[in-house]
This record gives sequence, structure tokens and C-alpha cells, in this order.
Amino acid sequence: MVRGIRPFVEGRRAIDFKGCPTHCRPISILPPCADVFHKIQNQVVTTVGRMGKRIVLEFSNRLSLVIEPRMTGLVLMSHPPDTTHLRFELKFSGRRQFNSIWFWDRRGLGTVRLFDPDQRENALGKTRLGPDALEITEAQWRERLGRTRRAIKTALLDQKLVAGIGNIYASEILHRARIDPQRCADSLNSNELKRLAVAVRSVLELAIELEGSTLGDGTYRNALNKPGQYQNEHRVYMRDGEQCTTCNRATILRMVQTQRSTFHCSYCQKWSGWLIE
Ligand SMILES: [Zn+2]
Repeated sequence: MVRGIRPFVEGRRAIDFKGCPTHCRPISILPPCADVFHKIQNQVVTTVGRMGKRIVLEFSNRLSLVIEPRMTGLVLMSHPPDTTHLRFELKFSGRRQFNSIWFWDRRGLGTVRLFDPDQRENALGKTRLGPDALEITEAQWRERLGRTRRAIKTALLDQKLVAGIGNIYASEILHRARIDPQRCADSLNSNELKRLAVAVRSVLELAIELEGSTLGDGTYRNALNKPGQYQNEHRVYMRDGEQCTTCNRATILRMVQTQRSTFHCSYCQKWSGWLIE
């Protein structure tokens, strides 16, 4: 989403911020919309960045608008899936192809915060969020995973351990790294850690390149409300019951780990890993 909106947003002046009329339970916006408007009015967006899954707009007065989409939130610059679940509009001056950012959220779990630099450091400082998944080093993987006995799949979703890996990608990453999702995080040997580091990078980079995954319910859309293309690359996610296209030997299985679905191939991701090396 960040890459999609950046070229249309950076360098532009905010002229309005308002909640959209909706009958849904309001999402959490702090301070209230009128205060956000007052504080960012006439400020220029200097950078559009990402902190884990959050989207961060920095303004010329050093305030940051931090949007956390959670499960179903989308930051859009064009027509949303419907108007019922639109939550706020941030409008820019000038007349170009796109002049507003909208936040659309079907379930309404997303949050929006306006922070000054100190508040932002307190709320989202490095102590709260793990290193970014695209920047974490092999030594950091070893050290961080070595501290937890949770299943590796569960550990990958912990944003305090590593920021930026969502549920779809955790299954895809472990499949490509040939690691059983139920393995204890601290039991991975150095070959497995290497494979994990490579798989994280390749899966996330490809997902960014293809602008995410759009699932059957059409939930995910990129910033221009086009479906992402990464779902065509899924080897295990939502493929339970199908034959594994990596090995052509086993069937993809689904299980639930800490209330989230995990998909894996019991042949490719065999516990001991001795069959394939
Ligand atoms: Zn397989």
C-alpha cells in the first residue's frame, strides 16, 4: 500500500481531514478528527513510510499520521469496494489524478493516530516493534528466535520479534524454507535459519512487487483498488486438499495455530528434513 500511494502523496499539502458518515461502529481515531484536521491543515506530507504493517505519513511540522489497517483496512486513492465502510478522508490541495486518501475498513479494527516525534517514539519506538523483516540480519534471526520456544509460525507473526510478516506470508515463507510450522523457534539449526532468511526476503519482495494478495473475498486491494497479484504465487496458502506443486508428492494440509490458519506440505516441510537437502 505504501508504494502505491507514495508518488501521489509525497510533497502534497493537506487541506482537509474528516470522518466519513457511516452507520458502522466508529474506528479509533486519536486525537478526534477535528483536532487532527487542525494540526495537519496546510502541512505538506514529507514522507510516506512503513513501520511493520503500519503506514506512516510524516508532515512538515514533524507530526506523523500513523494508520494501522489491522485485518480488513485499506488505504486507497480511488474508488473503495463500497462507501458504507469508508472511515476517513484526507484531502490534498491541487487538482491531480488523485486528490484524497481514503481509509476503508470493513471490520473497523483499524486505528489512526497523530503523534508528535516523542509520542511516536514512545508508542512505536524500536523497543515496541521488532526489526523490519526486510532488514533483519541472520544474526538477529538467530538471537531473536533463540529466545522463544513458541512454534516458528507463531513467532514469525509476532511483530515485536520481527515486523512486517502477515499470516499469508508466514505460511509461504516456511514452505519455501522447507520448515515445519510446528517446530520450536529455538530449535532451528543454522542451515534452516539461512533458508528462512532467504525465504523471508524473496517472499516479501515478490509480494511487494506484485502488490499483495487478493483472496476470494476480494478483501485486499492495492492503493488504486486493483487486486494484487501475489495470490497467483501462493504455493500453500488456501490450497489445502490440493497436491503440493513443489514436490508433487503430498497434499497441502491446513491447521490452526494460535487462532490463525497455517498451510503446509508434510513432505516438503518434514520435521527432520532428511528427505530433501
Ligand atoms: Zn510438497
